[in-house]
Amino acid sequence: MSDNGTPRDLKQRYKTPKQEMPCQPAEVRARNFTEVALGLLGDNAKLESYRCIYCKEPACVSGCPVGVDIPGFLHEVEKGDLAGAARVLKRTNLLPAVCGRVCPQEEQCEAVCKVGQGKNGVAVSIGRLERFVADWERNSGMAQAPEIAAPTGKKVAVVGSGPAGLTCAADLARCGHKVTVFEALHKAGGVLVYGIPEFRLPKAIVAAEIKALEAMGVEIVCNFVVGLTRTVDDLMKEYDAIFVGTGAGLPYFMDLPGENLGGIYSANEYLTRVNLMGAYDFPKNDTPVIRGRRVAVVGGGNVAMDAARTALRLGAEEVRLIYRRSREEMPARKEEVEHAHEEGVNFTMLTNPLRYHGDERGRVSAVECVKMELGEPGPDGRRKPVEVKGSEHKIPVDTVVVAIGNGPNPLVPRTTPGLETKKGKILARDESGKTSLRGVFAGGDIVLGAATVILAMGAGRKAAKGVDEYLRTGAW
Ligand SMILES: Cc1cc2nc3c(=O)[nH]c(=O)nc-3n(C[C@H](O)[C@H](O)[C@H](O)COP(=O)(O)OP(=O)(O)OC[C@H]3O[C@@H](n4cnc5c(N)ncnc54)[C@H](O)[C@@H]3O)c2cc1C
Repeated sequence: MSDNGTPRDLKQRYKTPKQEMPCQPAEVRARNFTEVALGLLGDNAKLESYRCIYCKEPACVSGCPVGVDIPGFLHEVEKGDLAGAARVLKRTNLLPAVCGRVCPQEEQCEAVCKVGQGKNGVAVSIGRLERFVADWERNSGMAQAPEIAAPTGKKVAVVGSGPAGLTCAADLARCGHKVTVFEALHKAGGVLVYGIPEFRLPKAIVAAEIKALEAMGVEIVCNFVVGLTRTVDDLMKEYDAIFVGTGAGLPYFMDLPGENLGGIYSANEYLTRVNLMGAYDFPKNDTPVIRGRRVAVVGGGNVAMDAARTALRLGAEEVRLIYRRSREEMPARKEEVEHAHEEGVNFTMLTNPLRYHGDERGRVSAVECVKMELGEPGPDGRRKPVEVKGSEHKIPVDTVVVAIGNGPNPLVPRTTPGLETKKGKILARDESGKTSLRGVFAGGDIVLGAATVILAMGAGRKAAKGVDEYLRTGAW
């Protein structure tokens, strides 16, 4: 290293090409549920880490919502000390195997990586390396449980077991508090288990993280709906503080004529049936799902992409993604859009559904759409889609999945008097997630609206710090 921390072999590092990650071939993976991306191999990972130039002020760290010490862990990979790399990662990120797979790195750490700047620059594959290290640690059986402080005698209830709740629970357990997580569904993990499909995030990875959490002494109680089984007020009588991380699982619909016809699902229901209830293996598993021959998925985000690719894997002959803007404007991750395209999803862009038509059995048989064109930019800077008059047309379908977004889960706000909300989201007073009720904190999608895994984790971590401070000082 030179005095300013920049490696002396800078030219060599810049010259090293980006290492590719193997994937299942598109025509094979489009018909199975196993993971699409297979992960970097050891030698390639080492070479990829060598592409880091150890900037004096690493923009990648500021680009990461939880501030992972990226050069720190890459340096360990380069040295070949993978256990050391895992230790660095876990200091700030409880779920590196998850984040390495699903974080939008191309908009965060990798977007500002100095190696990627300039005409031919390609950013270091930080996410893939994060995944590589986390997978190595899990498979090595050498994962170390974090140190836990002496018991404080304080009890905290965490409502919801998504990334926000799990991160908050882990950090509070480390502080020595007794933590119980209450989850409405029969399995813990939130969207990581019921939403994101197996082919992007194997459920065994989430299960391993939950096992690690339980090994830290965190109790997880499933099938417990706060607001129904017990209320927040009830829990406050038993616990010293509460963290609410109930997410944004309320699906939006377009309120179109015919939307109640059979065969029209919300993406949440469709994905939950397949991922959580194992409907792809019906009747071995109890829950069925319609295996449509001609499926339309409405929307352009990650959720739409997951639903479309799931429909393909369930055996659909045609899966059509209907989106009112153009492909370039889709909010989904670029990689997911490319994967969906390679697998054979039909992109019907600049098209908007108007109504659904049904058959004599009350099942959807067609979606009537109108063509759109991009008009003037709206307040968000994106060009507004405008209907092209006279372009109405019908597309024959037997299944529709509506994936146009989700709102905050309403049950806890509705059953907790005095809990302030805005447009359904719980209002947090500051970064620690303090709500209008003393001792009640909130974070993740229930505060932010539908966002990302890493932002939910960041919120869980900040809230844990806030809860710990409150429990130690009593200050509110
Ligand atoms: C299909 C899909 C794909 C996605 N893909 C990506 C991606 O690739 N990358 C990315 O970064 N983000 C992605 N996201 C978004 C990301 O998953 C969320 O932002 C994140 O999971 C939010 O975490 P959370 O902990 O706030 O909530 P959630 O993960 O929603 O977890 C909330 C939990 O609370 C439980 N709960 C709700 N109400 C109650 C109650 N009353 N009592 C008890 N428990 C309750 C729920 O059952 C759930 O388990 C995706 C989302 C979806 C739906």
